[in-house]
Amino acid sequence: MRFPREFKPKPTNWKVVLTTAIALAALLFPIGVAAMPAGAVVSTGDVPRGTSEVERNTSDVPRTSLYNTDAASSLQVVVNKKRPLNPIDYLPKGKVQIGYAWVAKPAAEAYAKLKAAVSAKKLGTLCINSGYRSFASQKIIHAAKVAQLGKAAGERLAARPGHSEHQTGLAIDVSTTQLGCRIGPFGSSRASKWIAQNAWQYGFIVRYPSNAKTSITGYVWEPWHLRFVGVELATDMRSKKITTLEEFFGLPAAPRY
Ligand SMILES: [Zn+2]
Repeated sequence: MRFPREFKPKPTNWKVVLTTAIALAALLFPIGVAAMPAGAVVSTGDVPRGTSEVERNTSDVPRTSLYNTDAASSLQVVVNKKRPLNPIDYLPKGKVQIGYAWVAKPAAEAYAKLKAAVSAKKLGTLCINSGYRSFASQKIIHAAKVAQLGKAAGERLAARPGHSEHQTGLAIDVSTTQLGCRIGPFGSSRASKWIAQNAWQYGFIVRYPSNAKTSITGYVWEPWHLRFVGVELATDMRSKKITTLEEFFGLPAAPRY
């Protein structure tokens, strides 16, 4: 591993904290779990979104220690054909609507800035062709493609449910209104070329950056598929000239399931 794992609090300490928290919550809020302090959730192994931001501002721990590639709610979660979301039917909280798409809030805010920058450069008006997709809708898309094209060809186009970045709410397929928001022609646009070079400043990466990386990511070049990972990680990847999450975190290649 090229990066330290996230901190695991001593189980005994957390049992005490958790027990106290539950007791307090039961006393103060009869409805229980929903009112539990956010810290208590850490014992489930799922790091709540926002924790790293708090630590980032208050500690001098190297920032790479705050990357969490495993928790479904983490901005840095690595999802591929070998790494399904956990839980597999994960449902992100806090989505906002942009056009016809829904996007997780941090990605939506960054997208607004990216869109403004593309417009300011007079490269076109960005639009979202596809954003959040639920486990259930991905199941339908996957089944339809497999029925239409057979398993091998179908799975080259549609991820199995639970294995798509779109289920995190952090992935968007973009195009421009000038292209009718179609993703097919986007790769040859000036907007696409600018995004490939500059999206990192807004916390996005072109997640499937070239056909040369298909053996690592499992997907052909998808210039329209942007994944929000946060400005820090996107900047780190840019400065180290590493273009895939698998290579950056030293994770196994995922060419197939
Ligand atoms: Zn996509």
